[in-house]
Amino acid sequence: MKIFIIEDEYAIRMELGQLLLKYGYECESSENFQNIGNEALNSGADLILLDINLPYQDGFQVCRDIRKQSNVPIIILSSRNTDFDELMGLNIGADDYISKPYNAQVLLARIQKILSRTYEVQSNAVLLHKGLTLNLLKATISYSGQEKELSKNELGILRILMVNKGNIIPRDAIIDELWQSEEFIDENTLNVNIVRLRKKLAEIGLPDYLITKRGMGYFV
Ligand code: CA
Repeated sequence: MKIFIIEDEYAIRMELGQLLLKYGYECESSENFQNIGNEALNSGADLILLDINLPYQDGFQVCRDIRKQSNVPIIILSSRNTDFDELMGLNIGADDYISKPYNAQVLLARIQKILSRTYEVQSNAVLLHKGLTLNLLKATISYSGQEKELSKNELGILRILMVNKGNIIPRDAIIDELWQSEEFIDENTLNVNIVRLRKKLAEIGLPDYLITKRGMGYFV
């Protein structure tokens, strides 16, 4: 998923870009604000982060211009005391508002929520959780610009865990789900696949993604 950042303050733009890249998003931005709305649209972004105080025209105008052409999700980043009241009174077609200074985890959660709501069709094929993207059609995991292919079993295990994110999934439930047709599955088969999956997650920078709850099962 690509996010276009419209922000004239260099430090904030860089900080946002690094944060989003770290969580597996592709990012684009520009230093030329004269035609920034069109530039964002032409980038093919899946979501736009929009500052309010900008050169040439303010973010409200940019938002209205984008809305004339596209329904791409827009999250407005507003400075708390100056823009916020005005912002609340305006109905300019943004999907969400976040005040600056923003909380990184809140921002990421809102982005993920809007993306999955907007791209529901794709989200059946792509699962996102804690920055990791699992592509069910390609059988790949990606994080922070790195990608790994998964085997059928690794894919199945991670899919169950990501669909049920935050909940502990018992070993038996995973075995039932993955190997229903087999008459007998060695406990060890699951262990081997978990080890391989953890190794691949570590190789793309997520060594602690898959957590073991001793005697209970696994969760992400
Ligand atoms: Ca600004």
